Amino acid sequence: MLKRKTALVTGSGRGIGKAIALDLARNGANIILNDIEVTTAEETAKEINALGVTAHTAFADISDFDSCVKMIEEIKAHTDHIDILVNNAGILLDNTIAKMSSEEWNKVINVNVNGLFNVTKNVLEVMPDGGSIINISSVSGVCGNYGQVNYATSKAGVVGFTKTLNKELGRRNITANAIAPGFIKTEMTDKVPQDILERMLLLVPSRKMGTVDDIAGMVTFLASDKGRYISGQCIRIDGGLMF
Ligand code: NAP
Repeated sequence: MLKRKTALVTGSGRGIGKAIALDLARNGANIILNDIEVTTAEETAKEINALGVTAHTAFADISDFDSCVKMIEEIKAHTDHIDILVNNAGILLDNTIAKMSSEEWNKVINVNVNGLFNVTKNVLEVMPDGGSIINISSVSGVCGNYGQVNYATSKAGVVGFTKTLNKELGRRNITANAIAPGFIKTEMTDKVPQDILERMLLLVPSRKMGTVDDIAGMVTFLASDKGRYISGQCIRIDGGLMF
């Protein structure tokens, strides 16, 4: 489905990003795995190479513009085109606005919003016409969430960024979509206290969390020919969460 395409997935050392990278690879794409440091991304690269496609790692802190410029220069040693960009890397630093420090605010905005700009701006230089951009937002950005004023703001920013890219890049036949996951089981949600998680799951009709593969499948669909006429959307994958 994605033969001869190259995909860059940010924050793909673990969690949702890793699942997205593996799913794109199973569907024939060559993969560039970005993470902030040498973590499990090297192991994931080995798993992906075993699938018969190529995988390279590209370490960069996405909140730093120069680090992203350098990353794209390094990527150019392996390929001259990135057809699929998945802006997945993101962080949480939860607090109510009353207790939130400016450091907590700035850190989340720097990674989740500035990171989006830093990566996308540089990738666009090597993205051919007909490319696909998929940005990972959150239901928190669509509906707001108690204790997540920084995170919800950043994830609402992901939606505005995506809808604007759709308008600016459509003439190059580049699609831009956002995915807003609900509660997905990863190390990020493992940090949420059990009692809070149980209360949140009461809002999901099935009372179940989603899996990383629920998100990965939609990314692959949007990046494939089947998703070519979908752009400017924010697709919720949340089990029908009643937020
Ligand atoms: P995760 O398990 O915490 O993984 C995040 C990944 O991003 C890690 O590999 C992390 O690297 C990397 N990363 C963090 N800061 C980075 C930076 N500055 N530069 C490059 N990479 C960086 O998170 P996840 O649950 O898979 O979430 C993935 C995305 O989905 C995030 O954008 C998140 O906001 C969004 N999301 C998740 C859920 C959920 O329920 N899990 C729900 C809605 C939205 P390290 O390993 O080095 O820290």
